[in-house]
Amino acid sequence: MSLIVQKFGGSSVANAERVMNVARIITDTYKNGNNVVVVVSAQGDTTDDLIEKAKEINPNASKREMDMLLTAGEQISISLLAMAIESLGYPVISLLGWQAGFFTNSSYGMARIHEVKTERLERELDQKKIVIVAGFQGLNKYEDLTTLGRGGSDTSAVAIAAALHADRCQIFTDVTGVFTADPRKVENAQKLSDITYDEMLEFATLGAQVLNNRSVEMAKKYNVELEVLSSMVREKGTIVREVANMEKMLIRGVTKDTDVARISVVGMKDIPGNAFKMFSRLAQKKINIDVILQSVGRDGTKDISFTCAKNCADDAVAILEDIFSMEGAVVSSDTTVAKISIVGAGMQSHSGTASKMFGALYEAGINISMISTSEITISVLIDKELADKAVSAVHKAFFG
Ligand code: ADP
Ligand code: ASP
Ligand code: MG
Repeated sequence: MSLIVQKFGGSSVANAERVMNVARIITDTYKNGNNVVVVVSAQGDTTDDLIEKAKEINPNASKREMDMLLTAGEQISISLLAMAIESLGYPVISLLGWQAGFFTNSSYGMARIHEVKTERLERELDQKKIVIVAGFQGLNKYEDLTTLGRGGSDTSAVAIAAALHADRCQIFTDVTGVFTADPRKVENAQKLSDITYDEMLEFATLGAQVLNNRSVEMAKKYNVELEVLSSMVREKGTIVREVANMEKMLIRGVTKDTDVARISVVGMKDIPGNAFKMFSRLAQKKINIDVILQSVGRDGTKDISFTCAKNCADDAVAILEDIFSMEGAVVSSDTTVAKISIVGAGMQSHSGTASKMFGALYEAGINISMISTSEITISVLIDKELADKAVSAVHKAFFG
C-alpha cells in the first residue's frame, strides 16, 4: 500500500462539476488500495476576490487580519470537496492547516513552515479515511492563523509529503505538465517529461508559476519527487527530481516575470563604500535585489541600477533617497519593465547560448536594458509591453 499526496489548484476545483471531477480522481486513487492525503487551494479566483473585498474596506489592513480573511478561501474548498467524496460513498475528513499540524513562524502573509505535526493526519489515515487538508495556511506561536504566500498550497503539499514520507506527491493543475514556456501564451510550447529541482527552482523563481518556488526548494531539500499533471486531461505529467534526462535540450524553457521594478540611483559619488551602504540598508529592510548594473564612473560620479519585486519599489526608493539625495544623486523607479529568462543546466557546457538569445531579441527589434547570468540561467530586462513577443521570439530560436 502506498501513501499518495495529491494537490489540486484553484482552477481544478473552481465549480461544482470540477469538484466532483477531482473527487473521482481522489477516490480512484483510494480504490486502488492507496492511502490518500489531499491538499486543496481556494476555488477559482476566491483569494483574489477576498483581497479585493478587503481593499474596499481598508486598503491598509493589517497582515494578521488579511491572513484571517484569506484562510477562509481554503476552508470552503476543503469542506465542499469532502462533501463530494462523501456523496461518492467514501470515508473522508477535511482539516484546516492547524488541525493537520501545520505550525509556522509569524511572518503573516509569507509564513514559513516550522513543523508539520503528523499525529492527527496519521490517526485519520489509520482509520482509512481520505484526508483533505487546507493548503496555504498554518498556525503561529500566538495561535493566530498565517498564510504561506501566494501559490503556497504547493508548499503545503510538499511539506505533508516530506513529513509523512509519502511515496508520491502529485501536483494537479490546469495544464498537463511543465512546458518549455507558458502553454497558454506560446503556441508550440513543448511538455517536458522531466526536469531537475535546480532547473525547476530557477524556472519557478523567474516566473513559471506552474509550481511555487518554495515548494520546489522544499522538495529538493527533502528529496520529494514531484509530478505536475492535469486534473482535466488524464495523461502523464512532468516529473521534478534530482536527475533528469537532457533529451538533447540545451535549455529547458523560457519564462517572463512582470513583477519587476528597476530602481536607479544616478549621480552618486564614485567612492568606496557606496554600493555597500546601499545594499546593506536594503538588506536590513529585507528587500531582495536581483539584477545589478553599475556604470563606469565619470566626473567623480557613478550610477547603479538594480531590480526588485514591484511591491518593494517604494520602500527601496525611500531608503535610497534617504542615503543619497544629500549628495545630489537622483533616485527613480520604473515598473514598465519585464525580465525574460532562459533556464537549463545544458547551457553550462555550451557556448553561444547567450548570443542565440540576444540574436533572437535583436531580430524581433527588442532592446535589452540589463543582463544577468548564472550557471543555468540568462535573464534580460526589457520593455514590459514587449514581454510576450520576446518570450515567443526566444522560444522559437531554441525550440523551433
Ligand atoms: P494552480 O491553480 O493549479 O496552482 P497556477 O495558475 O498556479 O495553477 O499554475 C498553472 C499555470 O501556470 C498554467 O495555467 C500556465 O498558464 C502557467 N504557466 C506558466 N509557465 C508555465 C510553464 N512553463 N509550464 C506550464 N505552465 C506554465
Ligand atoms: N489560494 C492561494 C492563492 O491563490 C494559495 C494557492 O492557490 O496555492 O495564492
Ligand atoms: Mg499555483
